[in-house]
Amino acid sequence: MRRVKGDPKNLGFATRAIHAGQSPDPRTGAVAVPIYQTSTYVQKGLGEPAEFEYARVQNPTRTALEENIAALEGGVSGHALASGMAAISCLMTLLKTGDHAVVSRNVYGGTYRYFTRMLEPLGLSFSWVDTTDLAAVEAAITPRTRIVFLETPTNPVMDICDIAAIAGIAHRRGAWVAVDNTFLSPYLQRPLELGADFVVHSTTKFLNGHSDSIGGVLVSAHREQGDWFAFVQKAEGAILSPFDSFLILRGIKTLPVRMDRHESNAKRVVDFLVRHPKVRKVLYPGLPEHPGHEIQKRQASGFGGMISIEMGSYANAKAMLDRMRVMSFAESLGGVESLISHPASMTHASVPAEQRAALGLTDGMVRLSVGIENAEDLLADLDQALAAV
Ligand SMILES: *Cc1c(COP(=O)(O)O)cnc(C)c1O
Repeated sequence: MRRVKGDPKNLGFATRAIHAGQSPDPRTGAVAVPIYQTSTYVQKGLGEPAEFEYARVQNPTRTALEENIAALEGGVSGHALASGMAAISCLMTLLKTGDHAVVSRNVYGGTYRYFTRMLEPLGLSFSWVDTTDLAAVEAAITPRTRIVFLETPTNPVMDICDIAAIAGIAHRRGAWVAVDNTFLSPYLQRPLELGADFVVHSTTKFLNGHSDSIGGVLVSAHREQGDWFAFVQKAEGAILSPFDSFLILRGIKTLPVRMDRHESNAKRVVDFLVRHPKVRKVLYPGLPEHPGHEIQKRQASGFGGMISIEMGSYANAKAMLDRMRVMSFAESLGGVESLISHPASMTHASVPAEQRAALGLTDGMVRLSVGIENAEDLLADLDQALAAV
């Protein structure tokens, strides 16, 4: 069972990021949690149950990560899976044929693909809702609704959803709330404290933070569902490897300092972009004119490092993207290096064109994941690339 053992809730976030789940190795005192690269464990004897039996079920490196993320999100259990999508898939095993889910209309493209192409054929149904609109959320809930699945900020149009208000509505109607917290990380936003029941992350992004691992975590606020997720890990087997668990543990140790720098760099980039004549619109929740600004200030302790901009057309977006030098043109986000992408043809290509249009996810939209390089170099890079538009 991946439970937080006596986690000292009175310690600060950065202290817990470094220590939670990671007591020194009992045999050697090693400060870093070792990579237990083993498939099985010798047992004491017939009929004597052991804590560690087979590594799909228990691995100490994975356990350390699971306890760590549970402590940071404030849940009762954490579950590390092979990717962010595997974590979302583990979460959705709570639903059975005939069940219904309300989902933010703008979610990660892979989430949309998984729900519509894999779960709908199994008899689950989904309502794609503007979850910034509380009345729309309420109206979409039916007696078959088991879960409300939110992203906030949404990827890439940066809608902000009121997690506490939606949790209130959903709980009154007997539904759970899950939040994909990948964009902000628990350093900036802790949905369980706002009343959500489950949190998922693609650890591939800010939690690992170095663009060198694929992984996912699922955190539960409830023991019964946490026990079920541990069962799913054992039964389905989409677990995170010991080496990836080690990398993410290492990444999380610097999460607070990285997030601070992502955000301070993002503010410099936003300041530059809002004044630039070639940029039609800047979507960033830290801007006072952003429709979700007040909610974001209330429910999170920062605005993060993700920015979307409107360049007006595919041709303008292409002219800019083809000239970027310091920022790499790539899918993904949340690494120390700045990445820049074109959501309509990359992360959200699986969302049908008419649906993208309805979301405001245009062919002229460019998404920036602002890294932790020197801000001056990022501004100079944007300046020379925008000159080509
Ligand atoms: C990347 C991402 C995912 C999927 O995670 P993988 O690790 O690529 O499977 C899910 N949600 C969001 C918000 C993401 O950015």
